[in-house]
Amino acid sequence: MEGVKKLFFGGNWKAAVRPSQTTGFFAKFAAGLRGHVYDLEMAGARVVVAPPSACLSVARQALVNEGLEGVVGLAVQDPWIAEGAYTGATTFEMAQDPLVGAQYALIGHSETREPHRIYGSISVLDETRLTEISGLNGKNPRPFRIATDAVVNRMTRKALEVGMTPIVCVGETLEEREAGKTRQIIQYQMSGALAGFTPEQIGKMIIAYEPVWAIGTGKTASPEQAQEAHEQIARILMEHSHTAENVVPIIYGGSMKPDNVAELVHQRDIHGGLIGGASLKPEVFLELILNGVRAFS
Ligand code: PEP
Repeated sequence: MEGVKKLFFGGNWKAAVRPSQTTGFFAKFAAGLRGHVYDLEMAGARVVVAPPSACLSVARQALVNEGLEGVVGLAVQDPWIAEGAYTGATTFEMAQDPLVGAQYALIGHSETREPHRIYGSISVLDETRLTEISGLNGKNPRPFRIATDAVVNRMTRKALEVGMTPIVCVGETLEEREAGKTRQIIQYQMSGALAGFTPEQIGKMIIAYEPVWAIGTGKTASPEQAQEAHEQIARILMEHSHTAENVVPIIYGGSMKPDNVAELVHQRDIHGGLIGGASLKPEVFLELILNGVRAFS
């Protein structure tokens, strides 16, 4: 069953923007975007920005001031699943507070998954050890907040419980790709993320395929490499949810730029992008989005 393909572009600011820079970003972004709101609507394109937690409420206010609330959404990066004694954490509830207003949650980004690969080189397949260090087994009350697959699953559940849209990232490292394990890693991370969810819940998710070797490196996956992974993800989604094609956006992340977005979104199973570096400058982010929309329409 085939649905209509719609585009989604998310800007992941990581820890690269300050609150005082956020207002200026949205003023410039809004000035450029205003004339293109109709084009976005026609392409069914959603635009979301994931600022650092400290910038979220400033971002929300800027969107209100610029009249872009409802046009540009906000995502919280790597929120934690429980309120309480977790120094440094931002919770789903905080991000969703009316003064903040994030509607999306960025979950399982490789920068939040990677520490578990550093902690004594634990295999991503060693669930017991990973559950232990993540603090989800109840024995360790202090979670390290490492996004293991079990944590990613819990975070995704929490997002859906509070009514936020989870953007779940998966992707292989360079070593894994070179060892011919790309399909195995995608299968493993996807199965972990989707375990226990109903088709209806899966239908509310967004999946980001982010090959770790392409993030922030300037090395983009070729359209064919990306499509191959997206096709696998689309098949796994179908197996788990029996939902129509294109219901769950599968976005590509890894050095997406204004000049390579078109060839990527031309691919059948690529619905847009999760963009790091190129989302930090309003004019570049806008050019990327508009190139994507034009390529699509
Ligand atoms: C990211 O961090 O999600 C990302 C894709 O970064 P970049 O676009 O800079 O590679």
